[in-house]
Amino acid sequence: AKSQGRNNYQLYDIRMNLLAKEQLQMEEALRKALVRDEFVLHYQPRQHVASGQITAVEALIRWQHPKLGLLYPSEFISMAEETGLIVEIGEWVLRTACLQNKAWQKMGINPKRVSVNISSIQFQRDDFYQTVLKVIEETGLEPFWLELELTESMVMRNATMTIAKLNQLRELGVKISLDDFGTGFSSLSYLKLFPIDIIKIDSSFIQDVSADSKDAAITKTIIALSRRLKLSVVAEGVETYEQLSFLRSRKCNEIQGFIISKPLAEEEITLFLQAR
Ligand code: C2E
Ligand code: CA
Ligand code: CA
Ligand code: CA
Repeated sequence: AKSQGRNNYQLYDIRMNLLAKEQLQMEEALRKALVRDEFVLHYQPRQHVASGQITAVEALIRWQHPKLGLLYPSEFISMAEETGLIVEIGEWVLRTACLQNKAWQKMGINPKRVSVNISSIQFQRDDFYQTVLKVIEETGLEPFWLELELTESMVMRNATMTIAKLNQLRELGVKISLDDFGTGFSSLSYLKLFPIDIIKIDSSFIQDVSADSKDAAITKTIIALSRRLKLSVVAEGVETYEQLSFLRSRKCNEIQGFIISKPLAEEEITLFLQAR
């Protein structure tokens, strides 16, 4: 029994070593990707329902891996969070998105907001505000054209600290949206406490909005509530005309999804925006 215990222990040890090794390798790979400039941003447009105007584009990261090809966030963001590299990657995303928006303005494209997904690890840091300020100053983008996408669960945790941080950012002029709304476990009455501008209804509610009466009821309620709180409301993952007509009839402000466009690489989105 004693030797078996030792064997188990050794096996466990080997496994832990492998895990640690993989983690180190991944960290190394992500770090190299940053240095070698292998990350790219794709951009997905967001449309105002009533006017048909493009109001914003969301920056979505991809990793152009030299061997594995184009990798999506689900394949590397959690690793970036575990290794802490998300802080540097996130700052790169912020800077690149601001520079791109500035470049579009210089090209004479009708100004739009650019929205950037923020990881809880970035947001939690004491220097988050300083980082945003620095990027805005360095890129020269007016803060009004930048939107930060935070998730419900990030915001609800540590409410006092969060409210102070959000107020600081909003004083700067940056817009704040609550992403994946409806998937967290926040109390709706909490919403009025948080200084936010936009609510993005999670695509899981939109998917069956025309067929499933429960999802339709939830979506209607979120839209009505947003209206009451004077927040703009965006539906995510809109793919069909049935979904769009439901959202239009309920007076959802904006939509994002394949019905308008999938996320596009830099050149494609630039052409898309120039054509509008
Ligand atoms: P998200 O913020 O909810 O982004 C929306 C996701 O839905 C994107 O996936 C987008 O490609 C996809 N999508 C958009 N429209 C449709 C549609 O009509 N139908 C369907 N089926 N899907 C649609 P993507 O680009 O793979 O990003 C996944 C998630 O990764 C994002 O979810 C976001 O949470 C995270 N992410 C992306 N970029 C960044 C980043 O720069 N930093 C951080 N921290 N997270 C990021
Ligand atoms: Ca998002
Ligand atoms: Ca989302
Ligand atoms: Ca998401």
